[in-house]
Amino acid sequence: MSVRESDFLAVAAREAEESKALGHPTERLLLAAVRSMPAMVMQKFHNLRGGTEIPHRFYELEGSPRERIVRLTPALHKVARSEQAAGLHGELGARWNIVESSFAAGIGRSLVGEGVSVDWATLTLTDKRRRRSVTGVAEALIGFQHGRCLICTEIITSDSKIAIDHVFPFSLMRRYGSVAGWHGPDLDVIWNLAPAHEVCNSAKSDRLPTRDELQRLVQRNEAIMLSPHPLKKTLQLSLHSARRANGAEGQWPGFLRGVLAACG
Ligand SMILES: [Zn+2]
Repeated sequence: MSVRESDFLAVAAREAEESKALGHPTERLLLAAVRSMPAMVMQKFHNLRGGTEIPHRFYELEGSPRERIVRLTPALHKVARSEQAAGLHGELGARWNIVESSFAAGIGRSLVGEGVSVDWATLTLTDKRRRRSVTGVAEALIGFQHGRCLICTEIITSDSKIAIDHVFPFSLMRRYGSVAGWHGPDLDVIWNLAPAHEVCNSAKSDRLPTRDELQRLVQRNEAIMLSPHPLKKTLQLSLHSARRANGAEGQWPGFLRGVLAACG
C-alpha cells in the first residue's frame, strides 16, 4: 500500500471543515496522518535545500509500509538528554506559530510581506499591520544563536532568567534624538535584539557591543536569513532600508560597521 501526498491532502481537504467545527481532527484525518507520515514527512525530515542532507540522522525507518518501525538514533537520544532539551519545546512552538500565522488569513499577508515587529509589553512578535501576537521574542530567536546568551556565550537553560538585549543600546537613539539626530537604523527591531541572561544584560547596561558580540550578531542574523519567512523578511527589510539610506552593502558585517560609524 503506498500513500501519496495527494491522497493525504485530499483527505485533509475533505475533513477540514468538520475538524474545525470539532476543535480537533476527525478520526479519519488522524488515521490518514498516521498512515502517511512515514511515507511523507518522515522521508523528508533530514533533507536540506539543494539536494543535501543534515549531517546527523535522528531516526531510521525500517519495516514494510504495512508495519513501519521507527528506530531512534543515539544522536536523537543525545539531544533529548541535553540541558537544552527543555528549551526546545518553546522553540519548536515558536517556529510552528510563525508558520501557522503565515497561513492565517489576515495576519499571513502582512507577515510575509512586511515581517514582524516587537511588542515590549508582552515580549511577543506581532504582525505589523494588525498587531496580532504571533509568538514569543526569545523563543523565536534563541535557536539561531544555538540557545546561547549573545553576551557570555553560555547556554541559556530553562531555569535561567532571560532578557532581550538591545545589542546596540536603545539609549543611543534617545541620546542622539535630542541633539543632532540618530542617523543609524532603528535599534528596536529584530536585527538588534538578542536573548541573553538577565544578569549579563543588566551588567552590560548601556555600553556599545564588543567586537566578539558583533561577530556573534552577524552569525545570528545570517542564520535567520537562511530560515523561511517571515523572520528572514524582517531582516531583509532592515538591510534594504540601510542600503537605500546610505548605500551600505547588503551584508551584515557592512551593515553593522555602518551602525558603529553612526555611533561616532
Ligand atoms: Zn550570559
